[in-house]
Amino acid sequence: MTSGEKLCLACGLCCDGTLFDNVRLGPGDDAKELKALGLPVSVSRARAPVTYFRQPCAALCADRTCRLYADRPGQCRTFECGVFKAAQAGRIAAPAALRLIKQARRQADHIRGLLRQLGDTEEHRSLGERFRRTQRRMESGRADATAAGTFAELGLAMHAFGLMAHEKFHTREKREEPPGRGA
Ligand code: SF4
Ligand code: SF4
Repeated sequence: MTSGEKLCLACGLCCDGTLFDNVRLGPGDDAKELKALGLPVSVSRARAPVTYFRQPCAALCADRTCRLYADRPGQCRTFECGVFKAAQAGRIAAPAALRLIKQARRQADHIRGLLRQLGDTEEHRSLGERFRRTQRRMESGRADATAAGTFAELGLAMHAFGLMAHEKFHTREKREEPPGRGA
């Protein structure tokens, strides 16, 4: 197993709905085949329709391997996050890369805990979608002081996570591009 594969198997953040909400399919992807393989492929209703599937990815296994590794979409094959690239290029050592990943996972777990405290237990949705849904709910109703405090903490935690992800994982310009990885 390469050091890059070890990193990804310790991470999974670009497949589990933490860094991305969805994966867009491209011209080289066979949407029907991917659907038959178990990915919930949909087509958006936009004027320029987009074919995509939502994260957390249905192909992500508990050990963070990809069940469809050999058949994964093109964007999964090409995506490499900033931490992965830096480690591969020797700009950061493997232990430092693992620390960054652990820190990111801890931040995401904290956010999920806050979401649960606010009544959102929809673990099958991406972190971003869960936050937006909770935000709409909180802003449209009357939250008690405890919930309002938790929501304020959630907003700060999401902001901090977004800054960290942008700086370390470089996801903004490639929001729909998760990686490809295998066992
Ligand atoms: S490419 Fe980056 S974000 Fe994706 S699993 Fe690997 S280390 Fe994690
Ligand atoms: S590499 Fe792509 S298909 Fe495989 S688990 Fe990640 S998002 Fe899903």
